Amino acid sequence: MTQNPTKIDKIITGEDYINSLRGRNLRVYLFGEMVKEPVDHPMIRPSINALAKTYDLAVAAPELASVISPFTGERVSRFLHICTDAKDLVLQNKMQRKLGQLTGTCFQRCVGMDAFNSLYSVTFEMDEKYKTSYHQRMKDFLKKMHTCNYVVGGAMTDVKGDRSLAPHQQEDQDMFLRVTRRTEEGVYVTGAKAHQTGCINSHWMVVMPTMRLGENDKDFAIVGAVPVDAKGITYIYGRQSCDTRSMEGGTIDVGNAQYGGQEAMVIFEDVFIPTENIFMDGEYDFAAMLVERFTAYHRRSYVCKSGVGDVLIGAAASIAEMNGVPKASHIKDKLVQMTHLNETIYATGIASSYQGYATDSGAYICDSMLSNVCKHHVTKMPYEVGRLAQDLAGGLVATLPSEQDLNHPEIGKLLKKYLKGKADIPTEDRMRMLRLIENMTLGRNAVGYLTESMHGAGSPQAQRIQIGRAMQLEYKKRLAKIIAGVETEEDKDLVINELSGYFERVFAI
Ligand code: SF4
Ligand code: FE
Repeated sequence: MTQNPTKIDKIITGEDYINSLRGRNLRVYLFGEMVKEPVDHPMIRPSINALAKTYDLAVAAPELASVISPFTGERVSRFLHICTDAKDLVLQNKMQRKLGQLTGTCFQRCVGMDAFNSLYSVTFEMDEKYKTSYHQRMKDFLKKMHTCNYVVGGAMTDVKGDRSLAPHQQEDQDMFLRVTRRTEEGVYVTGAKAHQTGCINSHWMVVMPTMRLGENDKDFAIVGAVPVDAKGITYIYGRQSCDTRSMEGGTIDVGNAQYGGQEAMVIFEDVFIPTENIFMDGEYDFAAMLVERFTAYHRRSYVCKSGVGDVLIGAAASIAEMNGVPKASHIKDKLVQMTHLNETIYATGIASSYQGYATDSGAYICDSMLSNVCKHHVTKMPYEVGRLAQDLAGGLVATLPSEQDLNHPEIGKLLKKYLKGKADIPTEDRMRMLRLIENMTLGRNAVGYLTESMHGAGSPQAQRIQIGRAMQLEYKKRLAKIIAGVETEEDKDLVINELSGYFERVFAI
């Protein structure tokens, strides 16, 4: 039943990618109506452009954004690559920062990358325990994806219903995606995944459980790949702040005319997954491992925000210049503060990758403590960077008249005169910069830069739980007791020789 969603054999450029999305007959709803062709919809297109940039970067900088596929021997997107050393993990982060810089938004492709990498090791370990054949299926599927250089989205977040109840305890069993029937050929699933990044812009989607599952939740322990145009899938487009500005025409008021992010609710009604595309079915005891490994990768993928932060810092410095005050010491100090915050995000993310290690499957995984620290920074620091950008922008960032007023034959002249900053800077340029700051801190791309930073890859409390689990207080207490003379030399040996968990990785040589 697998539809080939593209008429192009292998996608190489951004243009190939955009063409590959045409004519797919997806059921996408926006403003209560079905969208005929998402590619041509002015509200959707910026998100497609952002994802297309991942292909264009792979052409412009192949070492950064592509790899040689072990399956096909040809260049393929780094987003489809299984990491086999720490350098691979690091290069993912460098690519993410660059793409954040080039788009100023979420380029939507990391969930699939992190899903593949975590599934690679989890399927390997499941097969070892249960003698299943998920790992080989996974590799066969990856090969197909490499052959066409597809975009694969990862769909994890269930709608969850009553948060105090397990999946099987929900009054409505569809609150978590589940298998409703099985045939010789495969399984049928029903349920919904919320705020799915880039789902409409993908070719394939891998569904995964969203949390730890128990024995009674077997039907919810399903991982499988479906083409995004599979029968029974409906997408309901998520609104973003100020999104209809892209339907007004013009390029100023949108702030970032070219690029945007995308989230949608994905509803599965009796969607078929053939056996060859099933990578977990009923192994509920591996759901927690999958979620933990996925978040270890994905929470450091949020270094993307340091790339987006670079754009916002640039916008803040530019508006200061346009206002004529680039040298004021407090402005300089605020730009330093923004940079310090931004680099703190990058530092912890990239450190998590450098401290990566091999799983039994051979795939490398990054350090979960530092990954959680990175993501936890991301839940706070972009808000402060955004606050400082608004501080430097001044009140006009929220009171600026419209592009139509600027273009009006009479009042346009008045605006050009009275909205002028530094004499040699055109008023329109100043307006564009203010609109970009608005876009990133209040408008469409604030969804990606701020709220997604808060909740994407898990809300702040989820990281605090992980950090708490891994912080090794007993070990730290023993360090203190030895130095305070409360414990003996024998314990000191234990502290040096018997490292575990996070500190095993810290002191790995
Ligand atoms: Fe990638 Fe960042 Fe978007 Fe997540 S928020 S998909 S990590 S760009
Ligand atoms: Fe995300």
